[in-house]
Amino acid sequence: MREIVTIACVPCKRRNYTTTKNKRKHPDRAEFKKYCRFCKKHTAHKETK
Ligand SMILES: [Zn+2]
Repeated sequence: MREIVTIACVPCKRRNYTTTKNKRKHPDRAEFKKYCRFCKKHTAHKETK
């Protein structure tokens, strides 16, 4: 039940990371605080399809 999801930087919309998550435990779109090498700082990252 773990699926691969892509997460993208919110300000620049670049897809920086992929991760896996348990869809049953976290059905909503999660938001992560991660380092974006394009913004050169930590930004909010959201799941994309
Ligand atoms: Zn960015």
